[in-house]
Amino acid sequence: MIRATSFEGKSVAVFGLGASGIAAAESLREGGAIVSAWDDGVAARDAAIAKDIPLVDLSVADWSGFAALVLAPGVPLTHPEPHWTVKRAEEAGVAIIGDIEIFARERARHAPGSPFIAITGTNGKSTTTALISHILRHAGQDVQMGGNIGRPIVTLEPPQPGRFHVIEMSSFQIDLTPTLGPTVGVMLNVTPDHLDRHGTIEHYAEIKERIVSGADVAAVGIDDEFGLAMLRRRINIGPVVAFSAEKSIAPGYSLLDDTIVCSNREGLAVKLGSLTGIPTLRGKHNGQNALAAVAAVRECLNALGHSTDLDWQGALSSFPGLPHRMEEIGRMGKVLFVNDSKATNADSTEKALLSFPRDVYWILGGKSKAGGITSLERYFGGISKAFLIGAATDEFAATLDGKVPFERSGTLDEAVWAASAAAQQSDGSEPVVLLSPACASYDQFRNFEVRGESFRGLVASLPGIEMRTAP
Ligand code: ADP
Repeated sequence: MIRATSFEGKSVAVFGLGASGIAAAESLREGGAIVSAWDDGVAARDAAIAKDIPLVDLSVADWSGFAALVLAPGVPLTHPEPHWTVKRAEEAGVAIIGDIEIFARERARHAPGSPFIAITGTNGKSTTTALISHILRHAGQDVQMGGNIGRPIVTLEPPQPGRFHVIEMSSFQIDLTPTLGPTVGVMLNVTPDHLDRHGTIEHYAEIKERIVSGADVAAVGIDDEFGLAMLRRRINIGPVVAFSAEKSIAPGYSLLDDTIVCSNREGLAVKLGSLTGIPTLRGKHNGQNALAAVAAVRECLNALGHSTDLDWQGALSSFPGLPHRMEEIGRMGKVLFVNDSKATNADSTEKALLSFPRDVYWILGGKSKAGGITSLERYFGGISKAFLIGAATDEFAATLDGKVPFERSGTLDEAVWAASAAAQQSDGSEPVVLLSPACASYDQFRNFEVRGESFRGLVASLPGIEMRTAP
């Protein structure tokens, strides 16, 4: 655990007692702070009581003595409107921070300059964070990974020279971390998302930019207009490297065919590794993630004065990938089974359909999002048959009607059996049974993870299946 020693002897309010809020309260308590924790939910308060975290009803508390309010990232800071704790803190002049700010202060205090890579972007954050951690571990480094992926940051081992912290950050977390200052700040991409929580896309992009603005080195994806504008601004401020999966750039990191190259200003390129045939890095979007990861690690090692002569190819090829994101889970003869349960909207499913362009036995449905799957029509030619599940069945049947053969499977187990049987009959060389629902899961499952696990279990029970084991 990282103890919040920078708040020793101070009184700190903590609101939002999910996993990261409870961990922050424990870190503060262990660091010697006087904690006043609260949550509107009884279950969350009970969880805090079980951990001996002192509860104080912040709605009636005296805010004048608090040194800070540590807010959970899920609690609205600005949009649609500030939460009541935010208003109370602002009225009392109390700083509002998040758990990653606790980490940033501890690092600045006890191990300034220890390697720290922070990653954000609208899409691909988790994959990139996991890949950066994997490359560093593959090179024998001591790596702590967390933040918006896996463990809350303060539950990690503390910063120290030679230990790499690789931290995924949502915009909400960036908003709560005024002194972030990573060695490398990675900004993958910006597309409209969560605008309900950020107001305008400009405001959202401005928050994302903060991950690079205080970094020793900024690594910026320039495949969208916001990233390109960030690069242009940053060039005049401090060290920056760009990466692009769309075009060849110099200086910067780009793809030559499927090979990651780093070019200098004169256009001289070093080849760092090929993505060809790596099942966990399939698709252009993963090309962007891999470029970001290689750029981040290389620039971090450079900034620390370490050698960058790593076995890049070995690291990339052995990336186990993350569950539920175009995860190749098994094969039955020539039929490949892919779990893309994380695809809870059409944009995510588009990535899977681009990556598996033909002979797809597509399992989809659940609780649909605005627009349904109409944006995916251009990929319908690659679908051999669709298998509909859940509440979106009628809506999706209407979109597919006359364009793609489909059946109303109803449940995931029916769909898996039917899709598997149909795929066996294919004349193609690699038919793909793809769960990429383009829908939220909660009409039939607790969350996308449960849906993906359920798919895995059903596939594993098919006769003749060979499940994939991680590399
Ligand atoms: P995040 O952590 O930002 O949600 P993930 O790495 O978990 O991102 O990927 C979630 C989904 O986002 C993937 O299943 C894929 O559909 C899509 N995705 C991943 N990387 C990218 C990218 N670089 N650009 C666009 N979409 C992406």
